[in-house]
Amino acid sequence: MRPIDKGSWPTKDSHATRKRVFNDWTRAIPYLKGRTGRYCHLCELKVSNAMAIEHIKSKKYFPRLQAHWDNFLLICNYCNSHKLATITISPYKKTYYWPHLNNTIMAFDFRITGEIIPNRTYLTTKPQIDRASATIDLYGLDKVVTAQGNSDDRLKDRLEAYKQAIDRFIEFSTGKASIHAIVDNAKNTGFFSVWLKVFNSVPNVKAALIDCLDFHLATTYCFNSTYQPIPRNPTFTADPI
Ligand SMILES: [Zn+2]
Repeated sequence: MRPIDKGSWPTKDSHATRKRVFNDWTRAIPYLKGRTGRYCHLCELKVSNAMAIEHIKSKKYFPRLQAHWDNFLLICNYCNSHKLATITISPYKKTYYWPHLNNTIMAFDFRITGEIIPNRTYLTTKPQIDRASATIDLYGLDKVVTAQGNSDDRLKDRLEAYKQAIDRFIEFSTGKASIHAIVDNAKNTGFFSVWLKVFNSVPNVKAALIDCLDFHLATTYCFNSTYQPIPRNPTFTADPI
């Protein structure tokens, strides 16, 4: 899961210090798209049609947060449909991992088989693994059908991204694919985590993927100068990611 930075609460054009009102929360979508791209904050699917606002704390139980910028994520309709079937458990910051709060590239493993599982390279204790599993369950990140029983394109598109990434890896190994072409391909398919995993052993491609502005990664907080992932808030929390 891509770690992102939503930035601060958007302000009114006429009053740079006054927060924009999001009583209609769909009006936050253009701001989130502009700041974080067209990729689902949770599953990393590239979304060409309508995206949804996820209220981390539900509108039903926390009505005062329904227009609150900090409570928004930008997600695809598949993640949204699974979330609608359940609710976020409190305290949400300790129960789940979040792309705007944690370095989520360290929390989840996008496997070549299509599964998404807790990343045991970095998560070593049962509470950490349970926390990653809870996030996967909350949004049905590992599902193959939607909550309504329809085909879930997240798995299909994730596997397609893997196929293309491996094809480019083979081409790159034989001098037939440029770094620029690889990054362009990654932007097209989405699933940054898949591309990063396939090219993890190729430092210059890995660096180009992490530095690609289209992915809007919270690079400053989440990677060191040698492009290794680092804990996002080490002084704020003892959590390793
Ligand atoms: Zn999604």
